[in-house]
Amino acid sequence: MYTLIHTDKNTGARAGKLRTNHGIIDTPAFMPVATKATVKTLTPEELYEMGTQTLISNAFHLYLAPGMEVLQRAGGLHRFMNWNRAIFTDSGGFQMIRKDFPFKVTDEGIVYKNPRDGKKYFYTPRVCLSNQRILGSDVAMILDECPPYGSDYSTVEASVERTIKWAEIAKNEEKNRGQLFFAILQGGTFAELRRKCAEVLVGMEFDGYGIGGLSIGEPKETMKEVLRYNVPFVPEDKPRYLMGVGSPAELLDAIECGIDIFDSAFPTRNARHQSLMTGKGTVDIARRKYAQDFAPVDEICGCYTCKNYTRAYLHHLFKESELLALRLASIHNLHFIQSIVQGAREAIVEDRFAEFKRSVMTL
Ligand SMILES: [Zn+2]
Repeated sequence: MYTLIHTDKNTGARAGKLRTNHGIIDTPAFMPVATKATVKTLTPEELYEMGTQTLISNAFHLYLAPGMEVLQRAGGLHRFMNWNRAIFTDSGGFQMIRKDFPFKVTDEGIVYKNPRDGKKYFYTPRVCLSNQRILGSDVAMILDECPPYGSDYSTVEASVERTIKWAEIAKNEEKNRGQLFFAILQGGTFAELRRKCAEVLVGMEFDGYGIGGLSIGEPKETMKEVLRYNVPFVPEDKPRYLMGVGSPAELLDAIECGIDIFDSAFPTRNARHQSLMTGKGTVDIARRKYAQDFAPVDEICGCYTCKNYTRAYLHHLFKESELLALRLASIHNLHFIQSIVQGAREAIVEDRFAEFKRSVMTL
């Protein structure tokens, strides 16, 4: 259950606590992405160390591999991956956008084809939630349909109808004791459809709401506009989760609009592509100028990487394609994002979020 602790006096930013079966999540909160039951290259202990209270995995990917039988026998996802804090599981609806798998949508669900073996899976709202029961996730996302950015009104309207229909089915599904169900608000960039979807799903009283269909290629201003419009439909006592965001600037913009929870592969993916975030902008560590730079990646970062290694060393590891490069860079980037979100939380409680945001953005 969610408790609102404080709303910043000058913005819509808010601090709260989400209670789950595996501990409290202090919000705003950022979730590293563990699609296939691992945050790439990192152990749970390394993630705890940087203050991670929750992560997100993907129910559909885990359904394909290793499959629900293995996960059931393992005793659920927490035990399987040795993670003892909260877990969100994404439904798999977003895989339509990612085009990870060929698919076909019907009113009953999504037919996905596994490119590995050609096998077809009929993924319905019920299958989606029964998988998330087996996984034992603390927060299960219900199945939605997310049309690509730029879809026309009638396509988006049809997807909103399906999302609502699937939510009605999901609402009546059995859940594990204490498991939370979040619905996903769709409607593309059409205000009228956003309103309709939000009003109907909010009326069904889910435990929280994801704002879906954003960060899929639309201009930054459009995302802000949709958030400003869409977020007020979600009651104050429900957590709001912006899916698939993101970069420090996007995070801070969204926190300002009243978003509580985020997930994104941005920090870890960038890290593996030698792009390191610092208070003074992004550093491409493979550039020659770092070959003899014996300073840490970021002078004021307190992460394991910055405390123990130099830019020159990371540069060398990337140049030689050493595996340790990926780990050290991932530790730094995730720690950097977690520090921003923690800083935002402290600033909100003290009514100085706008000032905090400015200080981060002008560094
Ligand atoms: Zn660092």
